[in-house]
Amino acid sequence: MLTLLEQIDKGTLWRIPGGIHPPEHKTLSNQSKISRLPLADHYLIPVPGVGENCTLAVKVGDTVTKGQPLTLGEGFRHLPVHAPVSGRVVAIEERASNHASALPVLTCVIENDHQEKWIESVHTPLSLEQVAEMDNDDIIRRIQSAGIAGLGGAAFPTHIKLKPVSEIELLIINGVECEPYITSDDKLMQESCDEIVRGIEIVHQLLSPKRIIVAIEDNKPEAVEQMGHALNRSQLPSHCARVSKIPTLYPSGGEKQLIQILTGQEVPSGAIPANLGILVQNVGTAYSIAQAVYRNMPLIERVVTLTGQNIAKPGNYWVPIGTPVEHLLEVGQFRGDANAPVIIGGPMMGYMLPNVAAPITKGTNCVLMPSEQEVAPPSPEQPCIRCGECAQACPAQLLPQQLFWHAKAQEYDKAASYNLRDCIECGCCSYVCPSDIPLVEYYRVAKSALRQEAEEKKQAELAKQRFDSRTLRLEQEKQAREEKAKQAAERRKAQMTGSDKDAVAAAMARIQAKKAAEAQASAGATTEKPQDKVAAAIARAKAKKAAQKTSSETETETSEQPASQVKGADNRESAAVSQKEKVAAAIARAKAKKAAQDTADTTEASQAPAQQGAETAPLSQKDKVAAAIARAKAKKAAQAGANDQQAATVEHRDEPIERTGETAKPSESQSASTDDTEGTEKADAAAAKKAKIAAAIAKAKAKKAQLDAGASDEPDVMTPAEDIEANSPEAIKKAKIAAAVAKAKAKKAQQAGAGDEPKAEITTDAEPAKAEANDDAEAGSPEAIKKAKIAAAVAKAKAKKAAQASAGDEQLAPSESQTDIEDFADAEDVADTSSPEAIKKAKIAAAVAKAKAKKLAKAEAETPNNEHKD
Ligand code: SF4
Ligand code: SF4
Repeated sequence: MLTLLEQIDKGTLWRIPGGIHPPEHKTLSNQSKISRLPLADHYLIPVPGVGENCTLAVKVGDTVTKGQPLTLGEGFRHLPVHAPVSGRVVAIEERASNHASALPVLTCVIENDHQEKWIESVHTPLSLEQVAEMDNDDIIRRIQSAGIAGLGGAAFPTHIKLKPVSEIELLIINGVECEPYITSDDKLMQESCDEIVRGIEIVHQLLSPKRIIVAIEDNKPEAVEQMGHALNRSQLPSHCARVSKIPTLYPSGGEKQLIQILTGQEVPSGAIPANLGILVQNVGTAYSIAQAVYRNMPLIERVVTLTGQNIAKPGNYWVPIGTPVEHLLEVGQFRGDANAPVIIGGPMMGYMLPNVAAPITKGTNCVLMPSEQEVAPPSPEQPCIRCGECAQACPAQLLPQQLFWHAKAQEYDKAASYNLRDCIECGCCSYVCPSDIPLVEYYRVAKSALRQEAEEKKQAELAKQRFDSRTLRLEQEKQAREEKAKQAAERRKAQMTGSDKDAVAAAMARIQAKKAAEAQASAGATTEKPQDKVAAAIARAKAKKAAQKTSSETETETSEQPASQVKGADNRESAAVSQKEKVAAAIARAKAKKAAQDTADTTEASQAPAQQGAETAPLSQKDKVAAAIARAKAKKAAQAGANDQQAATVEHRDEPIERTGETAKPSESQSASTDDTEGTEKADAAAAKKAKIAAAIAKAKAKKAQLDAGASDEPDVMTPAEDIEANSPEAIKKAKIAAAVAKAKAKKAQQAGAGDEPKAEITTDAEPAKAEANDDAEAGSPEAIKKAKIAAAVAKAKAKKAAQASAGDEQLAPSESQTDIEDFADAEDVADTSSPEAIKKAKIAAAVAKAKAKKLAKAEAETPNNEHKD
C-alpha cells in the first residue's frame, strides 16, 4: 500500500462530497494585467485590536509615511496595521466596517498627501543568500511586523500559522480560487509566480515540509504553467514541490475541502490542519511573505478583482488597504444606481455591502457589482419541501434543512448539536434550494449568536475566576493576620512576668466592676436590686482581692529577691511596677465602690441614717417596716382616742352591727357604740371633716403617684427637682417615712399626756422614725403633720382592723409587731385590688384614724417640747 507521500508524488486526487458547478464569469476580469487605480484622498484603516492587544502609535494630526505602523503591540498575537499612503492622521473614530452588518469600528483616517513617501525601513530586496542565512525568529518577526494575514479571506495572522503546534509534512499553496468572478489569485500567479515561489521557499525554510503542493484548478492553465516554471527555477529541493491541477468544483478552494482532495484526509470537527501535519497558505499570502522578508515591506496593498456588469473597468488592481469602496466604484466607473448591489467577495460566499464608504481590508479579494441579469434580487422564501437537495450539495456533509429549522426557531443549541460550527458558509445549499431559502443567512445569524453566547460564558468564567481568586486571597490574608496576632499574643504571654499577670488580673477585675456598675446604672438607681448590690460587692471584692494579691505578691517577690538583685536598676524598676500596680488596684477599688454608690445614690441620699448597718437589706422591705410602724402608731392613736368605743365593742363583740351604709364588721350593740362615737365625733366634727378631705386628697395623690410610678418603664435616677414631686415613688416613700415620724411624735405626745402606753414599745417602734425625723428637720411643722395625715390615709386599712378590734370581732393581737405586719399586708391588698369592698373598708378606717390623728396633732401642738426630748 502506498504511503500518502507516494500517492501525492503520483498525483493522486480524492473526491469530496457535495459541491456545485456555478457559472464562472471569470473572463470579465482576467483579460488584462493587474494594474493600479488613482489613489484616494482619504484612507480608512480599521484598528479593532486597540485596547485589547495593542495601542495606537499615532494620534490625530500626526504626519505618517507610507508603510508606517499605526498600532503597537507586544504580544505574539498582535497584528499591526500600516499607513497605506503618506499623509496626515485627520481622525481616529468609529466608521462603518466592511461587514454585512456595517457595525462601526474604530478607524484611523489618513489624509493622503500624494507624496508616496515610504517609511525608511523598506529597503531594496535582499539576496537569496542573505535570506537563507536569516534566523527563523527574524523571519517570523519580519512577517509579524509586516502585518501579514491570510489573503484568502480568513485574514488569520500568518506569523501564528507559521509556528504550528506540530511538525508540518505537507505544505499546500492554495491557488484554487473556485469562487465565480474572482481572478485575483489567477492573475497574481501568472504575473508574480517567482515572488510567490520566493514566499514558498521562506515557508519551506521555516517549516521544512516534506512535500509542497501548489493546488490550482484546471480552469487556470496559464497559472498552472507559470507556477510550474517558477518552481523549477526555485531553490527548493527537487521532487519536493509540484503543481497539482484539481477539477473545477465549487468549493474546492475551501481549506478542509482542498486537503481532502489532495490527501483524502478529513480534518476532524474542531481540529485544524496542523493537527494532521498540514499547512495551507494562499498564493497571495506567499507573495506578501516574500515582500516582507526580502524588502521589509508591510502589507499595505493587495490584488482586488473589480468585476460585474455594473462596472466599466473590470479587472484586477493593486488596491491599498483602507481604500474606500466608493472610491473604487468611482474610479472603476460604477454604472449601477444607488440600490444596485455591491458584493464583497464572490457571489457564493460574499456578502452585500450595506455602506460603500467601508474600506478594503486585507481579506477583500473581490468587489462584485453585478447587474440584475447576473444576480437577481432574492425571491420570496418558500416553505421547505424536504427535498434533500441541500444535504446532497453540502461539502461538509451536514444536514442543512435541520440546521435551518433550528436556526429559524432560534434553537441555537440544537443547531450547534448538528455541527453548525463545521459549516463553511459556502452557500451550496442555498444555491440548490428550490424554495429559495437563504439558508446561509440563517446559519450566519445562528453562528453569530453562538459566538456571542460563548464570549459571554468566557467572560463570566473569567469573572468567576477573578472572584474566586479574590475570595481566596482575602481568606489567606485573614488567616495570615490571625496567625500573626496569635504568635504575637504567645510571645507576649511568654515574656509576661508574675507581676504582669497580676496586673492583667487587676485590669480584668476592673473591667468586671465597671461592667457591673454600668449594669446597675442601666437598671436604675431607684429600683436597686439585691443581686445588683451583690454583683457590685463581688466586683469590689474581686478588685480588692486582685489588688491585694498584686500587692502581696509584689511584696513577696521583692522580699524574696536577693539583696544583690534588690539593689540597682532592677530594684527600682520592680518597686515602680509594684507601686503602679497598687495605684491601679486602688483606682479599681475606688471605681468599683463609686459605681456601687452611684447605683444607690437616690435611696441612700434620703435614707442614709436609717440604712446604716443594713445596706444589703432590700429597699422595699425597709419601706414595709416603716409603713408597719406608722400603721401601728396610727392604730394606737386610734385606740387611745376611742377608749369608750373599744370598751363597748369588747363587751358586745359577738353581736353584729351595721354602720351607715358601709360593709364594716357588724357590731352587737349598735346603740351603745353609736353613743360613744357620737360623743367623740361631736367634739371633733369639724376637724374630722377637714381631716377626711385632707386624707382623701392625700390618698388620691399617693395612689396617683403609685400609678405613675408603676406605669413608668424606666427606672431612671431622679433629679433633686423631680425627687420632691408628689407623684414620684420617692415622694411616696418620703410621705410614708414622714408619716411614721409624725405618728411616732404623736405617740410620744400621747404618752406624755396619758402615760398609758408601754415605754418599751414606744422606744422600739419609734426608733426608725426618730432616725428619719432627724433628717426631716421640720418634724413638728405643719408639713410633718400634713405628711402624717397622708400616711394616716395610707394606713386606713390598718385603722379598719383597729375599728374591727373595737367592735370585738378580732381576737386579741398576739403582739404589736405581728399585728403591724398583718395590717400592712391588708393595706397592700386593699391598695392592690382597689375593690369597692376594700375602698369602703378603708374609708371607714380612715375616718377613725383621722380623728385620732387630729387628736394627736393637737396634743403635739400643745406639748412641743416632748419632741425634742426624743
Ligand atoms: S433544499 Fe431547501 S427545500 Fe430542499 S430540503 Fe433543503 S431547505 Fe428544504
Ligand atoms: S453553507 Fe454550510 S450547510 Fe450549506 S452547503 Fe455549505 S457547508 Fe453545507
